Amino acid sequence: MRVFKFGGASIKSVAAIKNAAAVIQSQGKENLLVVVSAMGSTTDQLERIIALAQEGNSFEKELNTIEKYHAEIIAGLFPDTQSVSQRVKELLNELAVAANAKGDYDFIYDQVIGYGEIISSVIIHRFLQQQGTTNEWIDSRQFIKTDSTFREGQIRWKETEVAMKPLQAILKSKIIIAQGFIGSDEKNNTVSLGREGSDFSAAIFGCSLGAESVTIWKDVPGLMNADPKRIASAVVFEELPYKETAEMTYYGASVIHPKTVKPLATHNIPLVVKSFVDPSLPGTVIHDCHVNNLPPLIVHKENQCLISCKVTDYTFINEEQLGIIFHAISEAGMRINVMQNSAISFSFCVDYIEHRVFKLIGILSKHFEVFYNTNLLLITVKNYDQKTFHEYRNMHGVILEQSSRSALQVLVKDIAH
Ligand code: ASP
Ligand code: MG
Repeated sequence: MRVFKFGGASIKSVAAIKNAAAVIQSQGKENLLVVVSAMGSTTDQLERIIALAQEGNSFEKELNTIEKYHAEIIAGLFPDTQSVSQRVKELLNELAVAANAKGDYDFIYDQVIGYGEIISSVIIHRFLQQQGTTNEWIDSRQFIKTDSTFREGQIRWKETEVAMKPLQAILKSKIIIAQGFIGSDEKNNTVSLGREGSDFSAAIFGCSLGAESVTIWKDVPGLMNADPKRIASAVVFEELPYKETAEMTYYGASVIHPKTVKPLATHNIPLVVKSFVDPSLPGTVIHDCHVNNLPPLIVHKENQCLISCKVTDYTFINEEQLGIIFHAISEAGMRINVMQNSAISFSFCVDYIEHRVFKLIGILSKHFEVFYNTNLLLITVKNYDQKTFHEYRNMHGVILEQSSRSALQVLVKDIAH
């Protein structure tokens, strides 16, 4: 069997959904499990609803926006909208109740956030049925088993594999439609897998069901050596080793969720990145292979924050102080994207998640004089050559640079912001 994943952009409108359906239909009638994200930017809107509700504010306007958006899509797909509209309405009511609940923020967040995927999967399931493509809708929460780390569920692989066994029989005669992004814990609470986690869901289904491949349908022709929106000369890879791909996602390439590659590599299942805009293009196959002469890989990571901790007396930065800094970063749930030290200061760059950054600065200020800069762009050039090395090192606005034998990283002021 094979697994397909369609992200929010590939199902954001009537035309996009018709296109995704045509892609699915062109690939057969069975032995296919399709993982779908929420449509368009529904997940962002749900995040706003949760924040408003938890601050005690009304979210009627935002809920109406979501309702209207899906109603327009339904109107464009179904001659008779009544039954599917009714189902979506019920789901919207359920999510409104969940958003108003009292309790732990991350728990409530997870009870609400997956409704985008549930609604989109219902619409796509019914649309395919209407078109004569027999398919079974499943609730991914019954199959993807996690612990109770809300917003970042850790997979219970064994239980997941056992739960998925019965899907094999269904796949013999039908396509399955499932939601990305969500699973459930031992108490059947919904647990999300982290933002953009639907790629990871596809990998989980693929690994647990022993898929022959997992295909992610994107708006780019395949995996490229740079973001084509930033670098027009970016090229598409025909194939790439798992390791190289995993490192690209580590440095911030957003084309694939970072957790996706490892389980597929362990099970030796190829990951295919294909264009839903032009499915006739070959795309990129990520698998166990060796590619000679890789071009430089350039990864842009936006919205970075550089934090510098300076010792306040005339001592030097020592290991004990580094211990305090690392501990504080880990406590704040953050990850260092690049770091550097000098005699009297230690600087590191993290994603700018405002409330976490300020919590972290609060802790560090008890021990150090702390400075920070925001609106930075971290550019990583992996497998650099002489030309790219000089080009990026000498770029305008570099405030920190670092290189190893295989990668150059520069942190620059983001002029776009
Ligand atoms: N809808 C979720 C998000 O936007 C999951 C995904 O799209 O992968 O984060
Ligand atoms: Mg998405």
